[in-house]
Amino acid sequence: MDELTDELMQGNRRALSRAITLVESTRPDHRARALALLSELPDRQALRIGLSGTPGVGKSTFIEAFGKMLTGQGLRVAVLAVDPSSARSGGSILGDKTRMETLSRDPLAFIRPSPSRAELGGVARRTRETVRLCEAAGFDVVLIETVGVGQSETLVAEMSDLFLLLLAPAGGDELQGVKRGIMEIADIILVNKADGDLRATAMRTVADYAGALRLLRKRAYDPEGFPKALPVSAYTGDGLAGAWVEMTALADWRREQGHFATRRAEQARHWFTAELRAGLLARLDAPEVRARLREQGDAVARGEADPDAAAADMLGWLNG
Ligand code: GDP
Repeated sequence: MDELTDELMQGNRRALSRAITLVESTRPDHRARALALLSELPDRQALRIGLSGTPGVGKSTFIEAFGKMLTGQGLRVAVLAVDPSSARSGGSILGDKTRMETLSRDPLAFIRPSPSRAELGGVARRTRETVRLCEAAGFDVVLIETVGVGQSETLVAEMSDLFLLLLAPAGGDELQGVKRGIMEIADIILVNKADGDLRATAMRTVADYAGALRLLRKRAYDPEGFPKALPVSAYTGDGLAGAWVEMTALADWRREQGHFATRRAEQARHWFTAELRAGLLARLDAPEVRARLREQGDAVARGEADPDAAAADMLGWLNG
């Protein structure tokens, strides 16, 4: 264990992969080792950047170009994915093709696909733990990618310091069906594909979103001018350097104002509660509990027991 920790802290990528495999395992002995490992990690920080966007918007192209730009500046970049489709079916929206080929060969980059065949809560926990492993391994930036499906955006926002929403150029005033809740958690909206024939449409889309963002309530953890919308092209690289300047400016301001640490503290509290709830729910899966649940459920269904009384009775039994 100590050896793994040492190698991890030296930034050894094979040690990092092994440590991630350990936190992804559901075997109780692996789980115990994973928790021991996590508890002895040093307090190193990376900038955690969440990135969401629907399939086809250009996430992998963007991450490849943006990641290369950062490694070109000597920064170490880890890319993780939270894929709700792999959580449900074992199939995957994010991992089904060879993605980010150049970045994956970059010695300063580390790419890990979404853990598969676990429910979304489990994927979230493993990704959070993997973020901490990447930080311990000395990465400067951890990008956490997800598709805009179900709860995955909220989960990723809750483990990120900055949250980016990647959009495609869209004509007219259709705000692309982006839900208000997503706009509210975005720090920077990036309108991708602002190149060639699409450039003019992209610029209009940026203006539309800038207008929509101004209508949102001002957030205490934002400096003047945030959240903002910017055009980028993952193809040409236009706008990527500018977007990075905005991200670091926002992160620096939040650090100076104390919001960065506050947010991490709130996130830690949130995950503690979420993990506890998940653990309590998991108790309902024990065979003897399931049997009793079925029995009581049948009695309630037959009208022989009152639903509330039966639930109270069951809770008493669980606590006893
Ligand atoms: P993902 O599903 O979000 O990961 O999207 P991909 O990165 O696979 O890109 C989807 C499609 O959009 C591909 O055909 C890309 O070549 C194209 N694409 C991605 N970025 C850009 C861009 O900046 N400009 C243009 N014109 N096309 C892009």
